[in-house]
Amino acid sequence: MITSTTNPQPADFADVRATNLAVVLRFVREHAPCSRADIAASTGLNKATVSSLVADLIDRRLVRETGLTENRVGRPATMLVLDGSPYAAIGVEINVDYVTAVAVDLSGERLLSWRRSFSGATSSVSQAVVAVAGLVRRVTNRMAKEERQVLGVTVGVPGLVGTDGTVLIAPNLGWRDADLAGDLTKALRDPGFGVQIDNDANLAALAEHRFGPQAGTANLVYLTGEIGVGAGIILDGRLRRGARGYGGEIGHIQLDPLGAECRCGRLGCLEAVAGIGAVLQHAALSPAEVEIEIEEVVRLARSGERRTLDLLAAVGHNLGKGVSVIANLLNPEVVILGGYYVPLAPWLLPAVGEEMRGRTIAPDGGGCRVVASTLGYGAAALGGAARVLDTVDSGRLPRPS
Ligand SMILES: [Zn+2]
Repeated sequence: MITSTTNPQPADFADVRATNLAVVLRFVREHAPCSRADIAASTGLNKATVSSLVADLIDRRLVRETGLTENRVGRPATMLVLDGSPYAAIGVEINVDYVTAVAVDLSGERLLSWRRSFSGATSSVSQAVVAVAGLVRRVTNRMAKEERQVLGVTVGVPGLVGTDGTVLIAPNLGWRDADLAGDLTKALRDPGFGVQIDNDANLAALAEHRFGPQAGTANLVYLTGEIGVGAGIILDGRLRRGARGYGGEIGHIQLDPLGAECRCGRLGCLEAVAGIGAVLQHAALSPAEVEIEIEEVVRLARSGERRTLDLLAAVGHNLGKGVSVIANLLNPEVVILGGYYVPLAPWLLPAVGEEMRGRTIAPDGGGCRVVASTLGYGAAALGGAARVLDTVDSGRLPRPS
């Protein structure tokens, strides 16, 4: 632990203080309600430093006193909790058939969750920018009415996103080399907060890691179940993106050299034989209104219709082959199926589990569980908000207003 008393370099003082503020803020997030003495005891910062840091966090309205006290030997301690009510973090997800926006406050409390249908497959990048900027403006107007300061926006896209926020390729949207971060910032007329772009699976994994029932699981993989299939990979508690940010493209491992053609131009990719497009195509349903069509598939499966049950079992077996690759390679504690896989999970999971256990060299799939996400269709958007909160937790604190 770095403290101002052990590292008195004046040039580093602001950095040290920001780091220590973030340490205290993270402690309160994880252990609230807690006292100043608890913070000092657990972080190794001395009591005077903790008092000064807490005063600063209260001043920024990131932390507040509850009014509750805990009686200890000696005098009672005032308990602290996260405040953050004057702030909002925004996440947006663009996908083939919808755009979602989520806003949360600093403690992760959901402020709003909006979903609009959007024809991503036939929209140009500039049309998407107009749609997303319009949605973000409506969210920021709502936040302004509630007197909240927007800390930032992260937009999730189903494709390869570079570390600079450019979308190299998003096959299911038909995009190449799109400067989405730059275009959105311009469309929002330099809004005074950061605009970040990330891969949708990465963001959904962050949402699960921060907010889901598996929160805090050190080794977790999230699989998007959209027209495309991507993996968000958390190993040893951290999101792993790879050298250029393009890791996790499990949707394009080839499962069948003679299989159906994928939107990437190759044959038999996982997403072509186990993505939601494969379900709709074989069920002879239109991919235009995916949500409605998936409801129809669920209805047929519930009624025990043989063709639908066989189709879901086949898709489940293909998906299970992909999950076994993940289990063999990464040995996660859990693989979470998201998106449209969630309503189909009762029929997919048995086949997925069977394939995974049969194909992993470690006994019992290396302990890997496969579960359906409970975060709903907004998982990637929620993860976008989580990524904004991560920047606060890592020390980029908002100024007191
Ligand atoms: Zn492919």
